[in-house]
Amino acid sequence: MSDGSSFVTHLECARCGARADHTKEAHLCPACGGPLLVRYDLERIAARARRDVLSDRASSLWRYRELLPLDDAAHAVSLGEGSTPLFELPTLGRKLGLRRLMVKDEGLLPSGSFKARGAAVGVSRARELGVTTIALPTAGNAGSAWAAYGARAGIDVVVVMPAETPEVIQRECASYGARVYLVDGSIADAGAIVKRAVAEHGWYDASTLKEPYRIEGKKTMGFELAEQLGWHLPDVIVYPTGGGVGLIGMWKAFDELRAVGWLGESEKRPRFVSVQAAGCAPIVKAFREGKEEGDAWRDPTTVAAGLRVPKALGDFLVLRILRASHGVAVDVTDDRILDMMRTVGVSEGLLACPEGAAAFEAVLQLRRMGTIAEHEEVVVYNTGTGMKYVEQLQGDPPRRIGKDELMPRA
Ligand SMILES: *Cc1c(COP(=O)(O)O)cnc(C)c1O
Repeated sequence: MSDGSSFVTHLECARCGARADHTKEAHLCPACGGPLLVRYDLERIAARARRDVLSDRASSLWRYRELLPLDDAAHAVSLGEGSTPLFELPTLGRKLGLRRLMVKDEGLLPSGSFKARGAAVGVSRARELGVTTIALPTAGNAGSAWAAYGARAGIDVVVVMPAETPEVIQRECASYGARVYLVDGSIADAGAIVKRAVAEHGWYDASTLKEPYRIEGKKTMGFELAEQLGWHLPDVIVYPTGGGVGLIGMWKAFDELRAVGWLGESEKRPRFVSVQAAGCAPIVKAFREGKEEGDAWRDPTTVAAGLRVPKALGDFLVLRILRASHGVAVDVTDDRILDMMRTVGVSEGLLACPEGAAAFEAVLQLRRMGTIAEHEEVVVYNTGTGMKYVEQLQGDPPRRIGKDELMPRA
């Protein structure tokens, strides 16, 4: 059992249900190689903590500490993450045909994406376990986030990413002192290199779902959403899906909130929409074909770097969640993504990342198909800031004018 105060009871394989010890470093299920999920003593939490304990806590994601895996809250490695704004987008909502469209803007987090949540909790727990070097493959923002939190924690970070990762992200990782390697190919190729390096050097493998704590951080997107909506949930949650951790995390979050009584049993269960890019849509394909798992996508290409994941370790969980929630998976083309980045910026002053823009574009498509109704409450996750994707920013180019030249009327 844990020597500290966390409510964690054990780790559980999401594939075969085998149990694993959470007090030691753990990666994949020793029995079947499936991803491990953190399990808590939810009854004890329900008896100890009602949701009004939150009212006098700071706004960071550590406010949900009963449902987080640290033995000692003082071990948290924090850059002030959490409590991102949730707000309505009336102009864009009208354009997309909705009365109530909301965005949860994750672009305001440290290192500019929701990956900060996973890294905050993942790095904190790694430090608690005595880890000194972390390695991970990344499509981009996970590298930024783990590099930032690693720097803060005094842990060395090695990131391996596709050579076509947005340049700002490459430089950003280096600015946090991480060792950055570029490879030809996708995150899958980067992952194969990390796997060998980890075995060789004894580093801590922080690949997506290869350690159980990243998902614990990401699930706080779900806690915050419920709390910000006054302990209600929307009809539809639209989420750009790469590795699927955000979506799996939110599903887990809502289950846990119900189990501890913070969300009523009768509260509605949102439909989840997974959005992928047409140039890399393994989950959409598997969903349409009625499969339980996806096949690796060949030659993944998209401007939405975070969605360039040819085969997610947790794809079977994402597919299960989409079906259980009566949701759907949708793919959108890069052209539409780029158009939508501009539409979002012009109509609402929100600089969406391509992944977030893909999610807004999916809403448009689902409204046209009638899959989402006009009166439904829809929350889109803008998973990162558009600021890192300078190459993709849309809009009319600025015009150079002479000092004495008068601008024409708009
Ligand atoms: C990583 C990433 C995604 C995909 O998130 P998953 O939880 O891995 O599915 C979406 N958007 C951005 C900006 C990302 O960095």
